[in-house]
Amino acid sequence: MSLNNKYDYIVVGQGLAGTLLTHELIDHDKKVLVIDAKLKASASRVAAGLINPVSMKRCIPAFPDYYLKEALNRYIELGKKLNFNFLNLKSLLRLFDSDETKALWEEKVSDKGMDIYIKEFINKNNFTFLNDHFSSAIIEPAGFLDVISFLDYSRIYFAKKGGFLDEKFDFSLFNDSEISYKDFKADKIIFCEGFRLTENPFFNYLPLAPTKGEVMTIKIPSKKYFDKIISKGVYILPLGNYLYTVGATYNREDVSDSLTVEGQSFLKERIDNILNLEYEILNSVAGVRPTVRDRRPLIGYHPENNRIGVFNGLGARGVLVGPYLSNQFVFHSLETIDRFD
Ligand SMILES: Cc1cc2nc3c(=O)[nH]c(=O)nc-3n(C[C@H](O)[C@H](O)[C@H](O)COP(=O)(O)OP(=O)(O)OC[C@H]3O[C@@H](n4cnc5c(N)ncnc54)[C@H](O)[C@@H]3O)c2cc1C
Repeated sequence: MSLNNKYDYIVVGQGLAGTLLTHELIDHDKKVLVIDAKLKASASRVAAGLINPVSMKRCIPAFPDYYLKEALNRYIELGKKLNFNFLNLKSLLRLFDSDETKALWEEKVSDKGMDIYIKEFINKNNFTFLNDHFSSAIIEPAGFLDVISFLDYSRIYFAKKGGFLDEKFDFSLFNDSEISYKDFKADKIIFCEGFRLTENPFFNYLPLAPTKGEVMTIKIPSKKYFDKIISKGVYILPLGNYLYTVGATYNREDVSDSLTVEGQSFLKERIDNILNLEYEILNSVAGVRPTVRDRRPLIGYHPENNRIGVFNGLGARGVLVGPYLSNQFVFHSLETIDRFD
């Protein structure tokens, strides 16, 4: 075997999980072979990329605030490294759906955890094109990641830095005692296959409970440019050029990338509930989130082989939680190697 085929890590799957993990490994001077075939229905390439630190229903922080800090810093840092601005910081306008919701939010602002995110309450309807009957609040910081550009720029970078195989990983060609795949050998392999973890013979026992989602791109021709993310039952993200992403639906019944009548009407109803002007639907896409029943990510090494790892279960907020979790995983992984090797 040539030295060129020897790697520190093989990473299978280059969605958000595999991409963030590989960047961490490369930043720690590891040589990584990434394998990904852009398989259908994968989550990251359809995700809206929303970064919202607040759990809207209960008005509590969705995660401890260091998740958000790590995410914003990491995407800015990786933007500099790859020479592209992936992160769009925008205020989020939370439209209340009832007086009760508004009262809950007003009560929560005095809680320590929420005053760092709720910047102000807007009591008048300043936005005439919105059905803003119960007024609204502004959340900051929030924003969205241009996930597709992030994956595409990273893909090129990984190919240059280590290696990239554009193919479906074939388990029959993997030797788990040597950690070799075809002619490639590595110290460790980490699986980041999103919802396809269910097809992985080493980790298919883990409690992944995938959730399909649909998102839409709409055009609002009459509206010049509304520069805030709107949230009320769905989110509406301003992309520029009169275009907006609207999402998302949640469906545990099927794991395909086909659009459903129910999903599309759900989104349309929610948009009509928010906007009181004409819009045009340009296209819709669907993908499957790697969600876990207890909402805890699936991260670590196999109990019978500590050279085979998994980094998965990023759930419905992968953009927000991925940077902190990938950082922690690599930190603990390398610590363990230093201690035991
Ligand atoms: C409709 C929708 C909207 C969403 N919106 C948001 C949002 O606004 N904000 C947010 O934070 N999160 C959002 N999410 C969730 C987010 O997309 C996920 O948390 C995240 O993308 C999961 O990334 P992943 O890498 O684990 O999985 P995936 O993105 O599914 O990536 C898995 C990768 O593994 C590859 N793969 C799998 N098996 C193999 C194999 N055998 N060989 C080679 N390659 C393989 C696939 O090709 C794929 O590229 C959304 C998800 C959906 C579906």
